[in-house]
Amino acid sequence: MYREETAKAYAKLIIRTGVNLQKGQLVILNAPIENAEFARLVLEEAYRAGARDVLLRYFDDKASRIRYQYASEDALTTVPAWKYTPIEEYAKAGAAYICIESDDPDAFFGIDSEKLGKGMNAEARAKKPFQQIFDKNEIQWTVVAAAGREWAKKVFPEAEEEWAVQKLWDAIYHTTRMDTPDPEKAWAEHSGRLRKYCDFLNDSGITRLHLENSLGTSLDIGLIPGAIWAGGSEKTVKGVEFEANMPTEEVFTAPHREKVDGKVCSTLPLNYQGVLIDGFWFEFQDGQVVDYGAKQGKEALDQIFQDENCRRLGEVALVPYDSLISRSGILFYSTLFDENASCHLALGSGYTSSIPGAERMSREEKEQIGLNEAYSHIDFMFGSADLKATGYTEEGREIPLFENGNWAFGA
Ligand code: ZN
Ligand code: ZN
Repeated sequence: MYREETAKAYAKLIIRTGVNLQKGQLVILNAPIENAEFARLVLEEAYRAGARDVLLRYFDDKASRIRYQYASEDALTTVPAWKYTPIEEYAKAGAAYICIESDDPDAFFGIDSEKLGKGMNAEARAKKPFQQIFDKNEIQWTVVAAAGREWAKKVFPEAEEEWAVQKLWDAIYHTTRMDTPDPEKAWAEHSGRLRKYCDFLNDSGITRLHLENSLGTSLDIGLIPGAIWAGGSEKTVKGVEFEANMPTEEVFTAPHREKVDGKVCSTLPLNYQGVLIDGFWFEFQDGQVVDYGAKQGKEALDQIFQDENCRRLGEVALVPYDSLISRSGILFYSTLFDENASCHLALGSGYTSSIPGAERMSREEKEQIGLNEAYSHIDFMFGSADLKATGYTEEGREIPLFENGNWAFGA
């Protein structure tokens, strides 16, 4: 339920645990116009925590939709150089970045997918210098959710609108541990647990993974030598701890861009730029998608694969089938939530944080060691109740990681 008191506490969690705002620091706050009331609470908490100044930028899916409907392809692909300058300058000055999401999963339903794809890719290219600053963890950043009307109606179609919104707030609060007596402490414990799994994986010497289930997934993933398994809180290059995603349940690393072979079948729909892709599968050979299909939204996959490097993987993540989000039984139609309900892979860019020293590498150097780079990073879910994941070391030692969708050992 959205109550001012709980919302204030949630705003405080975002500022303290999410970006872990430092005294005197600048803040970039991106928020949906629909959640202006909540954004103001976050803004206030930022100042209360000692923010020097906050750059609040509202965005509006409905306005974006109108633009994609009427503006020419030429206009949509000509992004003025100054468009992302303010946030880029702020980020260079060390601002923490907060993004509040409440996206309508069907925001762009029915819009010409080619035009939409071209426009979005142009935006992504223009935004790249900003994106790289937080990809490299030069600043603290966090992506969090607020309940939106259209989103809530999609998640709870049977509920009356106002009730759906309240139910969605409850789900957000539950999965971000806001319903525990001390959310900050709960997050510290949760992060600690995820770190233990990472430590185990990092010490295990695993160089290859095999994933399989009864749906037809049978995939071999070679890891990049020296790649790090990460999960829970992250640290900036200056050593400030933060939570990049709230919620988060994953432990992830970087696959080698040329060492993925076999088939993977999706288990949850993927909402890509307001288009729903469902019942899809990919066949990989030497790291590249060589064949694919979908029951719904295949044309969006055609768009994604226009970027050659989106045919390759940038992330493999393990998430127990019994995670808090998975157990909620709710399909959120939002990657922030659904990726934390299920084991997933990402098409496109890998995280430089997965490879020590990669933040200083050029694109060519990254590709040489096997780290994929693209304009997008698109997560999709393949976890299931019967998923089995096995790790293999260089010497061929077999280490069971997941049995029946969950960790094969405790942390
Ligand atoms: Zn992930
Ligand atoms: Zn991801």
